[in-house]
Amino acid sequence: MAAGHFSLSCHHCGVAYQRPRLNPGEWATCERCDSVLETYAVFPAGAWLAVLIATVITFTFANAFPVATLVVQGAGQAASFIDAVVITWRSGYPEVAALTFSVGFLLPAFHLGLLIWIFGPLSLGRMPLYFEPAIHLIDLLKPWCMVPVFLMGILVSVVKLVSLASLIPGIGLFATVASAILITALSRLNADKIRAMAHDLNLPASSAPLKKPPSPSLIMRTWALMLGAAFLYIPANLLPIMKVSVLGTESAHTILGGVIELWHMGSWDIALVVFIASVVVPLFKLVALAILVFMTQQRIGRKLKERTHLYVMVEFIGQWSMLDVFVVILLSALGQFGSILTIEPGGGAAAFGGVVVLTMIAAMGFDPRLAWRLAGHRRHLRRAASPIHQS
Ligand SMILES: [Zn+2]
Repeated sequence: MAAGHFSLSCHHCGVAYQRPRLNPGEWATCERCDSVLETYAVFPAGAWLAVLIATVITFTFANAFPVATLVVQGAGQAASFIDAVVITWRSGYPEVAALTFSVGFLLPAFHLGLLIWIFGPLSLGRMPLYFEPAIHLIDLLKPWCMVPVFLMGILVSVVKLVSLASLIPGIGLFATVASAILITALSRLNADKIRAMAHDLNLPASSAPLKKPPSPSLIMRTWALMLGAAFLYIPANLLPIMKVSVLGTESAHTILGGVIELWHMGSWDIALVVFIASVVVPLFKLVALAILVFMTQQRIGRKLKERTHLYVMVEFIGQWSMLDVFVVILLSALGQFGSILTIEPGGGAAAFGGVVVLTMIAAMGFDPRLAWRLAGHRRHLRRAASPIHQS
């Protein structure tokens, strides 16, 4: 480990620690709120670069090739992720197309590019240019990269369509599986970890002091975003998220209707996944955030640790409510058989995308350190070393 001062700060409660020396299998946690501060770095920079290159290859295949081909009465319709975006745009839902394109392709591609920008030089033992702004952007982009959610969306679409027609999985599906696994592995890389890796390589990376938590007056902005999300939650559930036309007979499907339909088809497991992702998660996020923000505003000092755990959970589950939006755009791209079978997105999908985006921005704008500070805890409690847990 390089000499010099390097500290670790807890993002969830604000305590700063001197960085401990970790051995294989060990990790350091915050004494005050139990958040993980650092885990032992198993992979050197060169190994991460290899994972990144494999991710770029699988991600390219995942987007260039169809994820599946739907066969109806001898005719086949193949669709890739990009096809799904284009068809959604043309069906009159440019906002849904732009949102899914951003979180399913544009932002993950940008995120991968930034990681290569950092790990290319690091694997050669050099300091990357624009190091601090790049790793800051990596942290900002991470929650908006939803390739694993898209993969789940493909699986749900497959289950929904097998009863209608025969479905042949494509190269894009297998490539999406591979890239979703790799991207999940890459999500372990955050600004703190990259900084620590650069420091261990004796590069001039210093620990960044935590930014000051936002002013309590910004809590009103969080309330406004949550109110907007709660308002959109109503049309998101009442309006159809897609319209299906089979042999001229049209039917509109709401989120709950889709869950019930899956249940009747015998796919109770997939029905449960969709119900949790689309109905339970957005409601849970709104209620949990409302409790967290209210208790912070009232300067309540009770259960601070549990409240911090709750916030971590809200952050973690945030992107999974995009599941049904991905299902809708994929089904619309696959169900293009003229008068035999046509599937189109509905207004509910746009409202639902709005709920996901607003709750995610609301959760990001709320800083859990504010709860500790307003409850009377000091921001900087420097300790000699943080505890180390052996696995
Ligand atoms: Zn902490």
